[in-house]
Amino acid sequence: MMSNLMNSAIADRMSLIDSSGIRKVFALASKLKNPVNLSIGQPHFDVPQEIKKAAIKSIQKGLNKYTLTQGIPELREKIKTQQKEKNISLEEIMITSGVSGGLMLAFMSLINTGDEVIVFDPYFVMYKHLIRVIGGIPVFVDTYPSFNTSVDKVEQAISKKTKIIVLNSPCNPTGAVYSKGQLKNLADIAKKYNILIISDEIYNEFVYVEDSVSIAEIYKNTLVLNGFSKTYAMTGWRLGWAGGPKWLIDEMIKLQQYTFVCAPSIVQYAGLNALEYNPGHLIDSYKEKRDLMYNGLKDYFEILKPEGAFYMFVKTPDGVTDEEFVSEAVENNLLVIPGSVFSERNTHFRICYAAENKVLYKGIEILQNLSGK
Ligand code: PMP
Repeated sequence: MMSNLMNSAIADRMSLIDSSGIRKVFALASKLKNPVNLSIGQPHFDVPQEIKKAAIKSIQKGLNKYTLTQGIPELREKIKTQQKEKNISLEEIMITSGVSGGLMLAFMSLINTGDEVIVFDPYFVMYKHLIRVIGGIPVFVDTYPSFNTSVDKVEQAISKKTKIIVLNSPCNPTGAVYSKGQLKNLADIAKKYNILIISDEIYNEFVYVEDSVSIAEIYKNTLVLNGFSKTYAMTGWRLGWAGGPKWLIDEMIKLQQYTFVCAPSIVQYAGLNALEYNPGHLIDSYKEKRDLMYNGLKDYFEILKPEGAFYMFVKTPDGVTDEEFVSEAVENNLLVIPGSVFSERNTHFRICYAAENKVLYKGIEILQNLSGK
């Protein structure tokens, strides 16, 4: 009886997504006692003290109830002020349960069955699966080997069904940052075909080059998604925001009312404090980690020097697939993620260098030995 129900109860849409790639890594990881772990996609530092105190204070003050669906006005106001270059009004900002919450609300509000969404490959893994489960079709634009958009390729990928271009700069998993010029070209194409851009800017503080702007400053039909997870190491606290055209934000609020209801109240209040915190020294230390890792590996592997986030997307040695490489790494006590989790290709692996330097040194040594050089 049980297995009959199991076979018939699950909605068809669930077969459109799978998590086998990541699961395989976790299965391998569980065998290791004390691995050199360069797989986790989150900062290695803890939430700064001031922000923790603000969260505790919010609980004590009794700010524990539902908030407005759109989020507390104080936080929206502060975001508006801090994001003034984007010229977003208060009604055009909502607070979400992380960028993940924002992505879900945006895709659900926009995608009809069969609508196409352009996604640059390599991509943050959630895009592909969320688009699919909602009935959309991710159309991948291959960005190897530079990990930047070729405008021609984007134009070729556009069809009558294209509704959205998803942009993620700085990018997970490549660390690529789009320059102002590249964003301008992309905006021109989006404008020409009247396509919305969703700009996932969750790593926007983790930028190690000068020439970096938000595409929202260039193209008004942009929905910006951003959050507190990475900058303040609040990944478990689930706080983000969305800013963009009011006609879209209104729909997303409507849906939030019947799904997430609101982002966690105490975290919204702590978010006010987080926005006062200057993460500059942490970003500087991540730039040093980027350099340490890059310099340790550049003579051994084909790597593009990342300009942002805290990842490197490294080519496996010739003739070795990503899964073969990752299995070998695991046998040598190192955890990294196979590139095919983030891509339609299987030629790379992802390193996350958000770790203590002593862990990075160990990782470099193991990787050098696995490089075949
Ligand atoms: N976008 C990207 C590119 C990410 O890397 C992540 C987290 N790994 C998210 C969104 C989700 O972040 P959040 O914790 O805000 O849901």
